[in-house]
Amino acid sequence: MDSLDGQVALVTGAGRGIGAGIALELATRGARVALMGRTGSALEESAGLIKARTAAQVSVHPGDVTDERSVENVIDAVLRRHARIDVLVNNAGIVDQAQFLDIGLAGWNAVIATNLTGVFLMTQRVALRMRTTGGGSVVNIASIDAYGTDGPQASYTAAKAGVVGLTKAAATELAPIKVRVNSVSPGWVRTKMVEEFVTADAMKHLLGKFARVPMQRLVEINEVARAVAFLAGPGSSAITGIDVPVDCGTLSNLFVFETLPT
Ligand code: NDP
Repeated sequence: MDSLDGQVALVTGAGRGIGAGIALELATRGARVALMGRTGSALEESAGLIKARTAAQVSVHPGDVTDERSVENVIDAVLRRHARIDVLVNNAGIVDQAQFLDIGLAGWNAVIATNLTGVFLMTQRVALRMRTTGGGSVVNIASIDAYGTDGPQASYTAAKAGVVGLTKAAATELAPIKVRVNSVSPGWVRTKMVEEFVTADAMKHLLGKFARVPMQRLVEINEVARAVAFLAGPGSSAITGIDVPVDCGTLSNLFVFETLPT
């Protein structure tokens, strides 16, 4: 297990779900963690959990990744508190469920602003600081939806495909300043986002015979977090510009026969 001792990690969307799990994993490996999200109380709760389980220094920074001023304020506050940022995890994300012909511009713009523009903004502004402190590692949370779609959520699919592209472009341009940029694409993970998205019956199916997924199960939050920690840490020092699916094999499965009526 790679140590992140002495490193400072800023995690967006860290108040719950995958982001909270990532922050906990990085703290477990010795990083000081800075938690960002729009809801202060959720961040405090997440910080409390991390402090209860690790000896890590944890700070809480309410802010919105879609808002330039808010992004700058959060980064400045993290630097005042921890002096540097070595790791940035762009995890904040939202979904807008809508059939393609019904997608409203406001819903489309909100998803692109959070899931794609937010990743650009955070990465650019943090990389400017990393440049002055010898570099760092950025890990973006994309999705298997970057490679296809699994429901009426075109804005989400488009944004996540954009994140994989942005990861490659940023990795190429930021390599000279020693900033690595990679992404992780989770499959179906049991979080509030998924619970809100699927019906109770569908959740029963996901937790039971999930035939579309070779490993026939949901991904655990800590399995995503461990992949992030690897890409954040020294063990991946020659790796930049790649996407790592953490999906129990979903993207490798092109079999369709299991969906035929028997
Ligand atoms: P949740 O909805 O549980 O958490 C999302 C987090 O993002 C919340 O803490 C939310 O906090 C924060 N957030 C949303 N908008 C903003 C914003 N504008 N600025 C700052 N923070 C924001 O989602 P998950 O944990 O399930 O997902 C986390 C990431 O993983 C997302 O990018 C998602 O697309 C991706 N993913 C999830 C999968 C799954 O199966 N769950 C599968 C593949 C990818 P607040 O509202 O307080 O700001």
